[in-house]
Amino acid sequence: MRRRYILAAASSVTLFVALTTRLCADSHPSFDGTRAYQHVRHLVEIGPRPPASEGIRRAQIYIIGQLKSFGCPVEERDFHASTALGDLAMKNIVVKLPGVNSGIILYTTHYDTVRIPNFVGADDGGSGTGTMLELARLFCSRKNSLNVWLAFFDGEEAQGNWTDAASVRWTASNNTYGSREMAARVEACQSHDSRRHDRSAEG
Ligand SMILES: [Zn+2]
Repeated sequence: MRRRYILAAASSVTLFVALTTRLCADSHPSFDGTRAYQHVRHLVEIGPRPPASEGIRRAQIYIIGQLKSFGCPVEERDFHASTALGDLAMKNIVVKLPGVNSGIILYTTHYDTVRIPNFVGADDGGSGTGTMLELARLFCSRKNSLNVWLAFFDGEEAQGNWTDAASVRWTASNNTYGSREMAARVEACQSHDSRRHDRSAEG
C-alpha cells in the first residue's frame, strides 16, 4: 500500500518535470533536480563543515567556483564572530543580480554544519545550498524582472562542541552569525543612503 503511494507520488513528479521542461524548453533553462542533487552529494562528500574548519573551506571553494562557472558576480564577505569557541573566521557568499525593476527578492540558505562528530548535514546545510546553487545557474543566465540576491550564510548553526544532536543548545546569541552580519550591513547601507539623500535634499 505504502509502495503504491510512493509510486503514485513519483509518477506525478515525473509528469510535473516533463510538463515544466516542455513549457520552459524554448525560453530559459529550467530547474534541474539532478544538478541540485549533485551539489548536495559533493558537499556531503567533503564531510563535516562547521565554521573555520578545513571542511567549510573546501565547501567555500566549491560554492564560489560553481557560482563563477554560472557567470554570477560573487561577493565574499569575510567577518569574525565571537563565539563560545573563541573568535571564528566566517564568510558569507553573496550574489547580487540587478533587475529591470527596483524590488529585491532575497534567497538565503546556510552552508555550515553543526559541530557534531561525523555530522555531514545532507538535508540541512547541504540540501539548501544545492538548491540555491541550481537557482543561481538559472538567475545568473538571464535578465530578471526584480533584483535577485542570493546569500549563502556561514555560522547559522549553534556554535559549541556538541557530542550528539540531543546535546545541542540554542541560545539567544550562539547562532545565526551569517544572517545577522548581512542584516547589519543592509541596515548600515540604508542609513548611509538616507543620510546622503537628506544632504542632497538640503543642498
Ligand atoms: Zn540548518
